[in-house]
Amino acid sequence: MPARRCASFTESVLWHVDAESPEVPNAPLPDHADVVVVGGGYAGLAAARRFAEHGRSVVVIEAAPFSTGASTRNGGMVIPELKAGPGALHRTYGDLGTRMHAAVNEAFDWTEQLIANERIDCNYERSGQLFLAHNEVTRRAIREAAADHLSHGEDVRYLEGDDLRAEIGSEVYGAGMVIARTGGLQPAQFHAGLLRRCLNIGVQLHEHTRAVSITDDGPGAHTVSTTRGSIRSQLVFVATNATADALLPKLQRRVLPVGSFIIATEVLDPELARAISPKNRMLVDAKNLLFYWRLTPDGRLAFGGRKSLRSTTVSEAADFLYDSMVRVHPQLGETAIEFAWGGEVALTVDRLPHVGSFGRVAYATGCNGSGVSLMPWLGTQMADAMIGEGPPPPFIELRHRPVPLSRWRQLWSPMVGSWFAMQDRRR
Ligand SMILES: Cc1cc2nc3c(=O)[nH]c(=O)nc-3n(C[C@H](O)[C@H](O)[C@H](O)COP(=O)(O)OP(=O)(O)OC[C@H]3O[C@@H](n4cnc5c(N)ncnc54)[C@H](O)[C@@H]3O)c2cc1C
Repeated sequence: MPARRCASFTESVLWHVDAESPEVPNAPLPDHADVVVVGGGYAGLAAARRFAEHGRSVVVIEAAPFSTGASTRNGGMVIPELKAGPGALHRTYGDLGTRMHAAVNEAFDWTEQLIANERIDCNYERSGQLFLAHNEVTRRAIREAAADHLSHGEDVRYLEGDDLRAEIGSEVYGAGMVIARTGGLQPAQFHAGLLRRCLNIGVQLHEHTRAVSITDDGPGAHTVSTTRGSIRSQLVFVATNATADALLPKLQRRVLPVGSFIIATEVLDPELARAISPKNRMLVDAKNLLFYWRLTPDGRLAFGGRKSLRSTTVSEAADFLYDSMVRVHPQLGETAIEFAWGGEVALTVDRLPHVGSFGRVAYATGCNGSGVSLMPWLGTQMADAMIGEGPPPPFIELRHRPVPLSRWRQLWSPMVGSWFAMQDRRR
């Protein structure tokens, strides 16, 4: 069904409208810095902030304008999760699984503290998450996951029937789990807060500057060549997530960029908004090609997902998402959408985040769609580790495998997407 679009409909990011991103001075690139950070999203900015707090001179180079990347266009759901509960992670990875689960929870607490301590005005609220089952297979999986979390003392509740109806105005889902430790924020404002902090502590920020190569000139010496000149530095941290390019071919081969799209409705009548999400939860379903949706701080519904793994346009994605939104919430049948946009998430073969180094160049990647708290925390942890001020995050112990046949992914990824969609249609 074609989306019902407002007269003011625009293919642009709702969050950019009121993000108040600080102006970045247009200065020449310096010849030298202690550290060069490539990528100005959450991971890069948080790492830069940390290096600067340790007294290092830091240059961040960003290929695009700072205020346009995935870190300013995501769903704003702050979710401490690794697609599996603590018991399941332990069964697969042993002690490392337990430490990885602890790490995402530490990232969540760290993000809440960062927002409070730095007074980042980003409408953060710990609203909780409702994770939803659309069929019998996922209902059983969610019930098991709830038991897993509960046995580790975590605040989750498995729900069906009237208890579920009190959480969401939809008849599509038969069961769900409320996870208390989840929040929502305005992602571009969160990014603007990190950018402002970097400016205030003397990080040198350069947008429209793409890194094209990194040469290792011996221990503690690199040359980063960019589209605006070269910089020598002791350390280099690459934080390009889904946008990994030929700068580090080994990294590029280990990341599968996949499109994700969001539509935002016009501002809803408050009663309609409450009927859809009475407790203002972050709503996520359990499909492979999942939907995620939430009320926005200005009273709209933002509804995200993707139809397949084929490349698509924002306009096609908006039609698909609108149709899906109205199936989930028929109450929105008369509501129009005002914004639609997309971005890319970084998938990895094991669906886990990865950190490490190629040669002496360090990196963090692989948000797998959940990077709002994880990526800035990984950036911070990696900065500490790179200058010997702390241990690296546990994800460094994982083997970071290349995506099979990555060069031909345009050929095989639609087939994988069709397989996912077929699984999702099971009753
Ligand atoms: C539509 C969408 C919805 C999402 N929803 C959620 C959500 O609700 N919750 C959640 O937790 N996560 C979500 N995510 C994921 C989240 O946005 C990411 O995990 C996070 O923003 C990644 O941050 P990052 O700093 O690692 O990378 P990015 O923000 O992608 O930053 C990487 C930057 O590197 C730059 N770059 C790349 N190559 C070069 C180069 N050679 N030289 C210079 N710069 C370069 C890019 O321009 C880019 O700005 C979503 C993502 C998308 C796209």
